[in-house]
Amino acid sequence: MALVVMKFGGSSVADADKIKLVADRVVEKKKAGNKVVVVVSAPGGTTDDLLAMSQNITSNPPDRELDILLATGEMISISLLSMAINFMGQKAISLTGPQAGIIADTSYTKARIKKVNPKKIKAMLAKDTIVVVAGFQALNAKGDVTTLGRGGSDLTAVALAAQLHADFCEIYSDVEGVFTTDPRVVKDARKIEYISYDEMLELAAAGAQVLQSRSVEVAKKFGVEIHSRSTFSQNPGTIITSKENIRRKKMEALLVSGIAFDKNQVKFTIIDLPDLPGIAAKIFSKLAKAGVNVDMIIQSAAINKKNDISFTVSKQDLKKTQIELDKLAQELKASQVIYDEHVSKISVVGIGMKSNVGVAGKMFEILHKKGINIEMISTSEIKISCIIDERDLTTAVEELHKGFGLSKKNRSFYDKA
Ligand code: ADP
Ligand code: ASP
Ligand code: MG
Repeated sequence: MALVVMKFGGSSVADADKIKLVADRVVEKKKAGNKVVVVVSAPGGTTDDLLAMSQNITSNPPDRELDILLATGEMISISLLSMAINFMGQKAISLTGPQAGIIADTSYTKARIKKVNPKKIKAMLAKDTIVVVAGFQALNAKGDVTTLGRGGSDLTAVALAAQLHADFCEIYSDVEGVFTTDPRVVKDARKIEYISYDEMLELAAAGAQVLQSRSVEVAKKFGVEIHSRSTFSQNPGTIITSKENIRRKKMEALLVSGIAFDKNQVKFTIIDLPDLPGIAAKIFSKLAKAGVNVDMIIQSAAINKKNDISFTVSKQDLKKTQIELDKLAQELKASQVIYDEHVSKISVVGIGMKSNVGVAGKMFEILHKKGINIEMISTSEIKISCIIDERDLTTAVEELHKGFGLSKKNRSFYDKA
């Protein structure tokens, strides 16, 4: 008898009809002879609505209270899904993250899972019961409910699959798998059959929402193979697995496997900082202490012993960053802090980049041909990212997708290695 973890995202449990459809799929899996653990997100839009409710009270709510509020979203879904499954004549029980034994560190809003104590889940599975777990939430050492960062239900599912040694970890959403770019933006994006953990990690970190990047990190660490697929179709989706497994299946490796983008970025620039050792250390350690995740950073060359530092953070951290920088700018005697919310990050990802030069040049050339200005650049072994004006984003995605041969019509850019 196999053990399957099935995770359904917000769009799959957005209303009563969809919840009944999810219940059908779960019951079908159970009747096929599997033990089933289901992880669900809050109904689509609920987490954003809850965040908006908190903003109506204060623009900077205490993180602990925010987590208690946000955790309520997933509790709506577990109870309703469990009712639907019971109504269909199968035994099901809903568990909150803390009840399911998901234990996190002490940080709020982006807590990390420290361990999973699956005692209760195992006891329920032994009683032939379907266990429905609230994603995105955990219990910390202080006994508080915390949340795991946006998209965190994926992480709950992968952590449970790892801890329970599940035979399958299926992540269901409103698309048929991982595509060469967001299929809602580029109509001829292609579904990828297999993708390595490393490429998926870079795509997810660069904004490809279909999987949360930390869930891919944990999947890689524990060797959990993820099957990303659609709630609304029976077609096979994308398998996220190790490079070795893909090679064994003799797949062609594309030089570039996908284009990702992130609209959720804000660019900050601190102007006229003294050009002295320790300034960057001070700024970024203060931001880290405030729980701000800094993404790209550039520092300009010094002129008259002064320079500027620009960096990006997610929009969610805008207020916290402003508060910290107002204090720091005074202390460090910088002349000004400016920010721009109208920027986006666009990234080209592919394992083939390791052994092929020229991808960066080609990317910049494609953007240049469309008159798109690049404001910041960062690279890793298998990714190149640029910050651009948000108004240029759709054109940039379409042109890069075409230019790197990812469209259905012009597949050409293969890595022959
Ligand atoms: P869920 O609510 O099920 O967790 P998400 O909204 O988090 O689903 O993720 C699915 C969405 O991710 C899709 O609707 C799609 O618009 C977006 N997406 C972005 N990049 C990609 C990609 N490369 N492949 C597939 N979907 C993508
Ligand atoms: N409900 C949370 C969010 O919207 C977690 C998730 O959907 O995975 O980010
Ligand atoms: Mg998601």
